[in-house]
Amino acid sequence: MQKFGGTSVGDADRIRAVADHVARTRRSGKDVVVVVSAMGKTTDDLIRLAGEVSSVQPPREYDMLVSSGERISTALLCMALAELGVAAASFTGSQAGIVTDTDHTKAKIVDIRAGRITEALEAGTVPVVAGFQGVSTERDVTTLGRGASDLTAVALAAVLGAEVCEIYTDVTGVFSADPRIVPDAHKLGRVSFEEMLEIAAAGGRVLQLRSAEFARNHGVPLQVRSSFTWEPGTWIVEEDESMEQAVVTAVVHDSSLAKVTVASVPDKPGIAARLFRALADRSVNVDDIVQNTSLHGTTDISFTVPRTDLATAVDGVTGLLPELGATGVSSDVGIAKVSVIGAGMKSHPGVTATMFETLADEGINIDLISTSTIRISCIVREEDVERAARALHRAFQLG
Ligand code: ADP
Ligand code: ASP
Ligand code: MG
Repeated sequence: MQKFGGTSVGDADRIRAVADHVARTRRSGKDVVVVVSAMGKTTDDLIRLAGEVSSVQPPREYDMLVSSGERISTALLCMALAELGVAAASFTGSQAGIVTDTDHTKAKIVDIRAGRITEALEAGTVPVVAGFQGVSTERDVTTLGRGASDLTAVALAAVLGAEVCEIYTDVTGVFSADPRIVPDAHKLGRVSFEEMLEIAAAGGRVLQLRSAEFARNHGVPLQVRSSFTWEPGTWIVEEDESMEQAVVTAVVHDSSLAKVTVASVPDKPGIAARLFRALADRSVNVDDIVQNTSLHGTTDISFTVPRTDLATAVDGVTGLLPELGATGVSSDVGIAKVSVIGAGMKSHPGVTATMFETLADEGINIDLISTSTIRISCIVREEDVERAARALHRAFQLG
């Protein structure tokens, strides 16, 4: 399985380079299935266009629109392969048998009926599948969430029993920090699923979170590598004793979040349950949650959400205020999150202290803090987050 991201198929030359690589793989005697993303920034452009046309975007129509980007890439890649004498056929997500639930814009895969893909392989044809999309149980086109071409690739790799799922992108692997922000970040040869899941969840977009979860659950051998240099990349593997447990493996930053604060919430059983049930029912992905100790029987609850979910979240909470007995809801889009991740943290105290000291030395204020056994995250001002990432990368000597 070979998946190519947006930059990798960003223009005609790139598409021809990808075709050349696929052709070589095919000629080496291997069956190959290809998954492609939309060219370059096509998906962003389509979303922007939708916003220019209308403030009302029915989710069904949004999915019909944004799924079209991937469709363009599949057909163009098949044409480039045809010129190289390689038989190839394009498939939409629906044609590839990716069946999803009806939760438009972030649908979940419920079944994969890959009959047409296996038939193509048996006929010696290279199937080129449009990533990021499927067809719902109500027979509508759905999309699987931003970055989800990775998921299409991993899910098909699992069902087809692929020898390997290669995620080709515009960096040479998974790095100790985003190499575009932290110039001396280094490439990790191997990274454990445990750490990869935390990196993805903390916003390191090099591999989409659900694809990493799916690969782990289904034992899919997974490698992130470059479609520019074609050099060996980063293997995502089950952790074993031979792996060095670095105290800190990676620093991750995420500027795609917003903070919501619900003020003066009565401090009594059932309030948080009601609030977060309402958000879950609207498919809002709540990230970190902080609730203060109550003074005089009320407390403030703050949580972070993807900016794309902010309007839905605020709308949901506003409708609930009378029932909750809270006084108001406010939001802040000027925040970002910086996280340090490392499996060795479990057995090394002091990482939190070093992280806070480093941010203090930079004069960066910490708003919210959250942790897991192998991750510490701080919400800071957005304008500080890249500086925070560089300082932490330095402090933990990851360069
Ligand atoms: P694609 O379109 O190929 O899916 P993405 O833009 O989704 O590519 O992901 C690749 C990008 O992820 C890189 O260009 C890089 O800027 C960013 N990135 C963030 N964190 C990391 C990291 N820890 N290691 C490598 N790349 C990272
Ligand atoms: N094109 C989609 C996006 O930009 C899916 C992907 O690239 O993985 O989110
Ligand atoms: Mg991606």
